[in-house]
Amino acid sequence: MRKLASIQTVNAVEPIPGADAIEKVRVLGWWVVAKKGDYRPGDRLVYCEIDSLLPERPEFEFLRANCYRPAQTDPAGAVTQPAGFRVKTVRLRKQVSQGICFPLSMLPPGTPDGDGADVTDVLRVVKWEPPPPVGMGGRVKGPFPGFLPKTDETRVQLLEAALTRHRGKTFAVTEKLDGTSFTAFLRQGTFGICSRNLWLDETDESNVLGRVALGLKLEEKLRAARDRLGFDVAIQAEVIGPGIQGNKYALPQVSLRVFNVLNVETYRLLDHGPALELLVELGLEGVPQLGTIALGHTVDELVAFSEGVSRLNPAVQREGVVFRPLVEEQDDDTGSRLSFKAINPKFLLKYDE
Ligand code: ATP
Ligand code: MN
Repeated sequence: MRKLASIQTVNAVEPIPGADAIEKVRVLGWWVVAKKGDYRPGDRLVYCEIDSLLPERPEFEFLRANCYRPAQTDPAGAVTQPAGFRVKTVRLRKQVSQGICFPLSMLPPGTPDGDGADVTDVLRVVKWEPPPPVGMGGRVKGPFPGFLPKTDETRVQLLEAALTRHRGKTFAVTEKLDGTSFTAFLRQGTFGICSRNLWLDETDESNVLGRVALGLKLEEKLRAARDRLGFDVAIQAEVIGPGIQGNKYALPQVSLRVFNVLNVETYRLLDHGPALELLVELGLEGVPQLGTIALGHTVDELVAFSEGVSRLNPAVQREGVVFRPLVEEQDDDTGSRLSFKAINPKFLLKYDE
């Protein structure tokens, strides 16, 4: 789970050219704009990451004008996300600011305040989620199956130490697409499909993911993959197109772009090369491949690298890039696989994310 609100130490404070009243504060690998003099290097503070939804409480009311988001409800009227103030990427005096800082004094007495302590629940902060795509209803079979990993990528801003440790290693870079997460699997003869968090009925064509699975004959393809490789396979992909996240790439139809190929029996991803080979054989498209880099970058350099237009539509900014070693490995800092994302700040600003 993402620590949306945590106790952190200020790494650095720097002026913003042309600004008298504000300056930029470095927390983890993020730059946050704050009032001049509020924080000094070494100060400890409460840091809330972008995508935090802060509750409607007096101490957060100053955010109402710019950040208020009403509650989200499901078709039956039940609240699926409370109203609150959404922390997002902003730009002040040309300086990108990501997150928000508060003094430790805002915590209720007795709150654990060790370095990195998670205060998300104490502050009643939740993760802001965009409204679900249209056509995501339909029959649900259950929660996301425990025998598959959920799709997720760690933000590079949290991995400053890992960047040093993996210096010199070659990473494959792919474009991060902004759609909706999809998984299709074969397990002990059973075929199934899932959204980000649910196991869906694979025969239900009222759901956009059900239609994609049938249209691409994914069951047949996964059975062919099993015959070829000798183990059960799952694919994880981003589904993009009309009706999904505003169809940013202006695609004429819904399409599927694979970013993970899994061995279901070992719960592990195939390495980059073999995964791409399998996709070619199955006739499935992968996410755009942007080549490789030898890691030797700072967080800021990788964030700058993430800027650029989409391979799918050069008229739009890409959401970002994902970095993975050519051969899968575990990593202490991500807590799971070595793999991370850098999100393009221009995309975040443009789409108000
Ligand atoms: P966060 O974890 O930062 O709160 P989040 O969980 O909503 O955010 P995203 O920012 O969407 O996740 O990043 C992870 C998701 O990106 C994956 O779950 C996957 O669906 C999607 N994705 C799109 N393109 C790629 C890609 N090229 N490689 C890996 N994942 C990708
Ligand atoms: Mn995530």
